[in-house]
Amino acid sequence: MDEGLMKTYGRAEEVFVDGHGARLITSDGREFLDFLAGIAVSALGHGHRRLADELRDQVGRVVHLSNLFRHPFTEQVATRLCSLTGMAAAFFTNSGTEAMECALKLARKAMHVRGTPERTSFVALEAGFHGRSLGALSLTHSEKYRKPFLPLQQTTWIAPEDTAGLQKALETERPCALVLEPIQGEGGIRPLSAGFLQAARELCTATGTLLVHDEIQSGCGRTGRFLAGQDVGVTPDVVTLAKPIAAGLPMGACLATAALADTFQKGEHGSTFAGGPLVCRAALVFLREVEHGLLGNVAARGAELRAGLEALQREFAMVREVRGRGLMLGLRVHHSGEALQKALYRNGLIVNCTAGDVMRIVPPFVLTADDVQDGLRILRQTLAVLPGCQSTTPPAA
Ligand SMILES: *Cc1c(COP(=O)(O)O)cnc(C)c1O
Repeated sequence: MDEGLMKTYGRAEEVFVDGHGARLITSDGREFLDFLAGIAVSALGHGHRRLADELRDQVGRVVHLSNLFRHPFTEQVATRLCSLTGMAAAFFTNSGTEAMECALKLARKAMHVRGTPERTSFVALEAGFHGRSLGALSLTHSEKYRKPFLPLQQTTWIAPEDTAGLQKALETERPCALVLEPIQGEGGIRPLSAGFLQAARELCTATGTLLVHDEIQSGCGRTGRFLAGQDVGVTPDVVTLAKPIAAGLPMGACLATAALADTFQKGEHGSTFAGGPLVCRAALVFLREVEHGLLGNVAARGAELRAGLEALQREFAMVREVRGRGLMLGLRVHHSGEALQKALYRNGLIVNCTAGDVMRIVPPFVLTADDVQDGLRILRQTLAVLPGCQSTTPPAA
């Protein structure tokens, strides 16, 4: 197992060979319910008919061109993303990390343009996650991820919700940008309050700091709105997207407001693969579903799931907290989240454990009402027999 691979991942033993909707099938015919979607990616689930048809067609035409040549789709994706986000221009990437890298470089370049090139540092939040390249890792808070790679870019950390600390850091450090996730994903599905996000916007404007929203996990409709920032009425200067944006194909985007749209000049940033015909065609399939009401399903299934999780919280003392929005939900438990995650997996439900004690629930946007009830049933059955997990009240009939 894992021959020839670096040891960065521990993999489950099952071999997944097929799927439809939120269901995955193993080589020996077992069915799993997928509430993780490949870490908040597979928005259209598995085996999506239209996606398969369009990708099959595109593979038979042009797969790759480079950004030196035009095809019909790059601009179509860019203009749709701009209209959905209120931004003015996009740079496409192949991953979330690269979208962050673009955002960080854009913030640096913007300071040169403004005549304040000495503003090179960043402010980010404790428990934040922004990726693993040296730039993105510089803003990722986890000691475990950072320590073997020090020194990194200079970053000042602020506790989420510490508005006074944020004000002080922005005024004294004079960073080029504040980078935050409106809902922290890896950090344990922790939504920042509307008050804090609005204060961050005001403080950035007052201090000439760029506000970068990392919506790689929370964006593209996962909360029921296209951006989590839109839920609280905050427009950042730069927003990064990735995970679900091309329904499972590797793609990311860094979007900027009109004031920053021309920050990079020709040749100042680039990517060989990014924004190619195949991934853009996939993104168009996804965005078409969004325009045809997919986010209504996210909101409806998210509300059902949340109500069910809250019922579990009342039923089981082990469940501490339910948090998140739409189909970005966290179930925080007492004790090890890993034991629960493994037990759920044995019972056919895929979630993952983040921040030590949080079940991260980020299913495909095409989740059905039956999927929700099946998932809640597996959760209830698993919690009921998990050692150390006593009911507080008898289970509802
Ligand atoms: C996943 C994630 C990233 C990194 O994206 P990759 O595609 O893994 O490079 C960055 N920021 C957030 C908030 C993420 O969830």
